[in-house]
Amino acid sequence: MRKIIITIDGFSSCGKSTLARQLAKELNYVFIDSGAMYRAITLYFLRSHIDWYDRDAVVQALKEIDLDFRYNDQTGVSDMYLNEENVEQLIRDMLVSESVSEVSTIKEVREFAVAQQQKLGKRKGIVMDGRDIGTTVFPQAELKIFVTADPAVRVERRFKELFEKNPNITIEEVKTNLEMRDYIDSNREVSPLRKADDAIVLDNSGVTRDEQLRTALKWATDKIQDAQ
Ligand code: C5P
Repeated sequence: MRKIIITIDGFSSCGKSTLARQLAKELNYVFIDSGAMYRAITLYFLRSHIDWYDRDAVVQALKEIDLDFRYNDQTGVSDMYLNEENVEQLIRDMLVSESVSEVSTIKEVREFAVAQQQKLGKRKGIVMDGRDIGTTVFPQAELKIFVTADPAVRVERRFKELFEKNPNITIEEVKTNLEMRDYIDSNREVSPLRKADDAIVLDNSGVTRDEQLRTALKWATDKIQDAQ
């Protein structure tokens, strides 16, 4: 059976990764969290004290970065590796979240990440979530989904997720971070967050994960059939 490419884009904390992960599992496709790549690059810049406003420093630093996704038997999904180190947990830290959108505006950073994302999609059979996957990374994708959710619902979801790991976090901090990332992501010069013209909108504010999955799965199986 011919495989397709599925892209899932949208604002921060809309549940894109959850949907992408579930969809990939159902279809036996590979799930790629493109945000993890931008987060890993940001972690490297922070650790190495790279001034990301200095283009030469960025270009040099990118040469030292090796990104890799490796399957984790225990979780059933792939973890992000930065220069052979598993950074899956570290990249979710608030310190990374506070800088990742700024780092993601840099043209050289995007070129570096997009080239690797396109390579990962060469053999199709992939579900990738992010901000510019349907518009820039795979404009030819067979199925493009643009996920949205009510901002208050998104803050609440993200807060619950982060609070489990860090009970000191406040809802205000989470809200400010989401608003800031959405603003920077939507207003940057290079491939800003946009709904692709041919993307289908999925508003999951009042929808359970199962309902959301069933809807997306129907769209995917229809497209897979069309592709035969
Ligand atoms: O998906 P996640 O929220 O983990 O992504 C972290 C950040 O990485 C986003 O806020 C955005 O700034 C950046 N990003 C991006 N393009 C993508 C995926 C993520 O610019 N395709």
